[in-house]
Amino acid sequence: MSNCIFCKIAAGEVPSQVVKKGDGMMAFKDLTPQAPTHVLVIPTTHVASLNDAKDASLLGKLLAFAREVALETGVATKGYRVVLNTNPDGGQTVFHLHLHVLGGRPMKWPPG
Ligand code: AMP
Ligand code: ZN
Repeated sequence: MSNCIFCKIAAGEVPSQVVKKGDGMMAFKDLTPQAPTHVLVIPTTHVASLNDAKDASLLGKLLAFAREVALETGVATKGYRVVLNTNPDGGQTVFHLHLHVLGGRPMKWPPG
């Protein structure tokens, strides 16, 4: 999608700090990190939100990719959080499906 910032990141048209790439997925550092490790995981093809993700296998791949990112960034053993904000009440601000992988500090519950 031409006007989507994460599509532009996936295409290399907007710079990002790439953590991992391959198999139709990409992970890069969040611009405004909320934890010592804060990585976003996206499908490289445009899907606006979880509500729009018709392909369940893509969701499985996205989650497995996030788990690999957690392992490779060294937060897997101590623990981490995977967040998927959906639509305005869910806190979604970028309408290209993405998972947040947050780690490197203890997480609080409940979330705000
Ligand atoms: P959400 O609020 O769940 O839609 O998350 C969007 C996330 O994208 C936020 O945590 C932003 O800090 C992050 N973000 C926005 N623009 C960029 C960018 N150009 N590079 C990296 N992260 C970004
Ligand atoms: Zn997009």
